[in-house]
Amino acid sequence: MHYLHRYAQHALDIVFPLRCAGCQASGYILCSACKATIRQLTAPLCWHCGHALPVNGSCQSCQQHFLQLSGLRALGPYQEPLRGYIHQLKYDGNTRLAQPLGQFLALAYRTYGMHADIMLPVPLHAQRQRERGYNHAALLARVCAGLLGVAVREDLLLRRHATSAQVGLKVDERYQNVATAFDCAHVAATNVLTGRCILVIDDVCTTGATLEACAAPLFAAGALSVWGLVLALT
Ligand SMILES: [Zn+2]
Ligand SMILES: [Zn+2]
Repeated sequence: MHYLHRYAQHALDIVFPLRCAGCQASGYILCSACKATIRQLTAPLCWHCGHALPVNGSCQSCQQHFLQLSGLRALGPYQEPLRGYIHQLKYDGNTRLAQPLGQFLALAYRTYGMHADIMLPVPLHAQRQRERGYNHAALLARVCAGLLGVAVREDLLLRRHATSAQVGLKVDERYQNVATAFDCAHVAATNVLTGRCILVIDDVCTTGATLEACAAPLFAAGALSVWGLVLALT
C-alpha cells in the first residue's frame, strides 16, 4: 500500500509538477498569496444555514427552504478563485489541493466553534468513484479531520444509487433527484451513530438537497445532530 501510494505520488508529480494552483509559482500546492485571495464569509451570517445575511434582513435562504440539518457552515461564497480550485480538485485530478482546502475547512470549523464526534464525507456512488479514482469530499474530510483530531468514517453512509448530476436542475428536482440516494441501514443496529454529533463534509452546497438527503438516514439511525460543512455556498 505504501509502495502504491509512492508510485501514485510519483505519477502525480509528472502530470502535475508542484506548482501553485493559482499563480503557477513552483514549489507550492497553493501559495500563501493565492490562499489570501480566497474570500471568506463574514458576519452577520444566518445562525442556521450559514449564508451571509442582508443588512437588517432575515435569511432569504431559510425562508425559501428551511434545512432539516442541524446547521450548515461554509468557508466562503462559490466564486473565483475558490471555485476554480474546487474544480481542479474535483474534475482535473489535482488531488493535492485537498491539503490546503482541507486546512481551510479545519479553519472554518474552529472559527465557527463547531463540534463533531464523527466526520463523514458525502459519499460518491461506487461506479462514479471508480471512474474518477477518488472521492474529493473524502480527501477533504481526511485532511480536515486529521488536523482537528476528529474521527472520519467513510463506511457509515453509503450512496445507494447513482444520481444524475444536479447541475441544471431546479430546486424541487434537485431534492427529488437525491432524496433516497443515501443509506446507513447497514450500521443502524450497531448504535455507532446513536447520540453522536455528525458533521457531513462536501465541497459545495447549492440548495442543500444533497446534505439533507445525507442527514435523513443519519437522524433515523439515532444521530443527535447532523451539521454540514462545505468549502463554498452558491
Ligand atoms: Zn499562488
Ligand atoms: Zn438561513
